[in-house]
Parts: sequence; structure tokens; C-alpha cells
Amino acid sequence: MRGEMLRDESMSRHVSWRAGGVAQRVYQPADLADLQMFLQQTPADEPLLAVGLGSNLLVRDGGFRGTVLLFVGALAELRMEGDLIYAQAGVAGAKLARFAAANHLCGAEFFVGIPGTLGGMLAMNAGCYGGETWQKVQRVQVLTRSGKLLERTAQEYDIGYRHAALRKESDEFFVGAWLRFEQGSADAARVAIKALMEKRSASQPLQLPNCGSVFRNPPGDYAARLIESCGLKGKRIGGAQVSEKHANFIVNAGEATATDIEDLVNEVRATVLRQTGVELHTEVKIVGEYKS
Ligand SMILES: Cc1cc2nc3c(=O)[nH]c(=O)nc-3n(C[C@H](O)[C@H](O)[C@H](O)COP(=O)(O)OP(=O)(O)OC[C@H]3O[C@@H](n4cnc5c(N)ncnc54)[C@H](O)[C@@H]3O)c2cc1C
Repeated sequence: MRGEMLRDESMSRHVSWRAGGVAQRVYQPADLADLQMFLQQTPADEPLLAVGLGSNLLVRDGGFRGTVLLFVGALAELRMEGDLIYAQAGVAGAKLARFAAANHLCGAEFFVGIPGTLGGMLAMNAGCYGGETWQKVQRVQVLTRSGKLLERTAQEYDIGYRHAALRKESDEFFVGAWLRFEQGSADAARVAIKALMEKRSASQPLQLPNCGSVFRNPPGDYAARLIESCGLKGKRIGGAQVSEKHANFIVNAGEATATDIEDLVNEVRATVLRQTGVELHTEVKIVGEYKS
């Protein structure tokens, strides 16, 4: 194996909330072939967790008992294949948006504001400003738990709002995708990218560690509007705080633990349910063990 194995690694280094517990093992593969070999040699009962940029993820303070597979920095190939873009799962959204623009393709601009990897964006069907990841997918490349490399089409997935799962239950990781965009003007795409970046920094608390929107928007409404209407902006538990700038963001205002963040998530959910009757569901993924 040519990758790097870390032991007892703090996941606060790998998630954008900059908080959380320790993973027993973290493996950063050298490349796709190395990841395939690693999976072929990993016992079937070893818990595995794919992590991109950790921009939608929290590992509880009791840590993750198993192996984290780090995709960012590892699966980084990005190229044109005919009129499609082939990108590996570790490629970041901003890089993908700029690569598409440089190749006179439009429709990829929205990726610039999503601080995740393609793998995480496929897993979440990430999107914003009218664009969604799976709208652009021609086919994906996956590795099964046992290290088999497969290609799949969108029809094999149950795809919805911030959700994508195989129709048949399975244990697979996204390792790449072929994406289709319209031909367009590189300059127009660059202008759109700049405008989206400005819109984001005006509306989101990007100076403090956060995980983007914590809750999914309920049908016909906005989680941020509901949270704000309950007077929760600025609400704090330990180092975790509901952002004053965007009510659906929880920021790490300094030394927050994963427990502070999860407690605040639960408090917001309970208050909104009590005051409005609407049950919010988290968009962020919370995994791992509670600290005893
Ligand atoms: C400031 C900010 C703004 C954001 N804005 C948006 C937005 O506008 N729209 C939006 O949709 N999201 C947004 N997000 C959330 C986040 O960026 C997205 O959900 C993104 O897709 C997560 O990608 P990631 O690589 O960081 O995934 P991670 O957080 O590392 O992982 C998220 C989930 O995906 C799984 N996963 C990761 N990689 C793989 C893989 N290769 N194969 C299988 N499963 C995998 C993980 O196991 C986990 O369950 C925002 C986040 C921040 C911090």
C-alpha cells in the first residue's frame, strides 16, 4: 500500500466545524488503484467512513471506531474526456467550477460555493441557486467495499433533495464521475462564479468554522426563517452558536466540542417543533460514539 495511515487522528482536523473526536485509523490512499487494493485487503467487518472536505460532517467526541478513508488530496484527477468532464471524487467544487469555465462550459458555476469534494457532493446531491450535482451526472464510478470498480448511471440511484442512495442496499464509495455541461462562454462563467462568491460571503458567516446549512428546508419553507422566527439567532451552548448572520448555520465560536454542537442542533430542532409544529431534519451527518 502506498498511501498514508494515521492512528488516533483527531477528526477536528478533517471537518470544517473544527471540532469532534478521534478516528482509530485514517487512511489517505495514494490514488484510485491504491484505494482499491486497500479495500480488497480490509476485513469485511471493519467500519469505514468516506470523508471529503468534512464540510457536512461531525464526528462525536467519543470518536469513530473504524477507518476513515480520506478522499481529498488523493483522488484528484480532473480532465476532459470528449465533451464530458471526468473528475475523481477528491476534486473540490471550486476547482471543478473553474475547470469547466476554462473549458468554455457553463452550468458548473454553482459548484464554486460548495466547499466539498465531488464525492461528498454526489453523496449529498449538493446544490444551490437552482443547480444540483446529479443533474450534471452522465455516469459515476464507484468502488464497492470489497474493492470492485464499477460504473453506474443515475437511474440506479434514488435521488432527491440533498439525498442520493442506491436503489438496492449497498456499501459503495464514489470515486469519480463523468459530468455533462452546456457549451458556453468562459468569460460569462467566470463572471457568474465571481457573483456567486460575493453573494455567499454577504449572506454566510464564513469567518467562523461551520458546516453550511444544518437543517434541510422543509417543503415550502426555509429552515433559517423558522429558526429565526423562534428567536434562536445567537443562541449558544458552550462554544457552539446559532449564527447571527444566517440562522440555519451553527458556528464554532471558539473551542466548541461536538457535544456542544449536537446539543445545540437538538435544542434548535426541539424549539422549532414546539413553537411552530414543524419538525426539522438535519442535512449534516453526525456519526461516531458519544463520549462516556
Ligand atoms: C460554508 C458552507 C456552505 C455550504 N453550502 C452548501 C450549499 O450551498 N449546498 C449544499 O448542498 N451544501 C452546502 N454545504 C455543505 C457541504 O459543502 C456539502 O454537503 C458537500 O457536498 C459536502 O462535501 P464533502 O466532501 O465535504 O463531504 P463530507 O462532509 O466529507 O461528507 C459528507 C457525507 O458524504 C459522504 N461521502 C463523502 N465522500 C464520499 C464518497 N467519495 N463516497 C461516498 N460517500 C461520501 C460522507 O461519508 C458523509 O456522509 C456547505 C458547507 C459549508 C461549510
